[in-house]
Amino acid sequence: MKTVITGGAGFIGSHLTEYLLKAGDSVTVLDDLSTGSLENLKESWDHAAFTFLEGSILDREAVRQVVSGSDRVFHLAAAVGVHLIVDHPLESLRTNIHGTEVVLDACLEAGADLLLASTSEIYGKNTSDRLSEDADRILGSPLKSRWTYAAAKGIDEAFAHAYWREYGLQVSIVRLFNTVGPRQTGRYGMVVPNLVGQALRGEPLTVHGDGQQTRCFSYVGDVIPAIVRIAEEPATRGLAVNLGGLQEISIIELAERTIKLLSSTSEITLVPYDQAYGTGYEDMRRRVPDNSLAGRLVHFKPTTTVDTIILRVAKAMLSTAPGEVHAGAIR
Ligand code: UDP
Repeated sequence: MKTVITGGAGFIGSHLTEYLLKAGDSVTVLDDLSTGSLENLKESWDHAAFTFLEGSILDREAVRQVVSGSDRVFHLAAAVGVHLIVDHPLESLRTNIHGTEVVLDACLEAGADLLLASTSEIYGKNTSDRLSEDADRILGSPLKSRWTYAAAKGIDEAFAHAYWREYGLQVSIVRLFNTVGPRQTGRYGMVVPNLVGQALRGEPLTVHGDGQQTRCFSYVGDVIPAIVRIAEEPATRGLAVNLGGLQEISIIELAERTIKLLSSTSEITLVPYDQAYGTGYEDMRRRVPDNSLAGRLVHFKPTTTVDTIILRVAKAMLSTAPGEVHAGAIR
């Protein structure tokens, strides 16, 4: 199988690249290295079936060339991370909307199947007990960057769905809920690498707001095989499928567990949202997935607990930046 992964040098993309190379695919990664890095691809780099191309999904010609002759595309390239989205809303809009349209056109021309990576952000402030795929979206003003991103990813899904309906493009969509694991960087705001890094360095753990907001973190190693199965399952065509984690946990509890598990001497500091992200920022109080569709269609059953996730992220950090952190209880 000839596979293209846009955004393959990113956190999720690089894990997907390794997984598909192991499965026997030939994999071409297209990435502009804006938030991804070649370091993420070092396990794949020398593989005979691996090709890397530095380029943007906004470059129509480059995308056409990469996609032509391929069987399928996993479209993961996007402007992600709350800090990036808030600081650079235009980049987020252009990459996420125009870039996706470029990728869709290239797939159509090449006759390649498409897996679009979308996000739980599209549900916005809907705090329902379990968000199913047809749950209502509750978004704030599109003039607030966080909702700009949610709006852009929603348009991406609508575009992909319309290419399936009107042109017959073989499209499946996954909505990823707070996917975490080794290689995710805290640079753009993601909470797990931030807190784990702070705990390992003995710095205060920055918990935003009152820390009572909750998330369900899913482990990248649980999510990747499900993404591939969804791409390969004809019954998922034209659908969006949630992929989320097991346990609902508040951010304050995540911080407390991180300190305990890593035997850290750090304390917890509550940081007001305005200070963390600038004025007018709105957060989701709660985000809980209903994974039952993925369970039915591709037998998705996440198994990795939050504690295991924290330990694995810490271990990976220690192996890449051993000088900057102290080992604590990790072995
Ligand atoms: N968060 C936090 N401290 C940090 C980074 C994030 O308390 O150092 C909070 C953030 O405000 C949000 C939650 O953790 O309530 C999850 O943030 P993340 O950016 O990882 O994901 P998302 O907000 O997209 O769910």
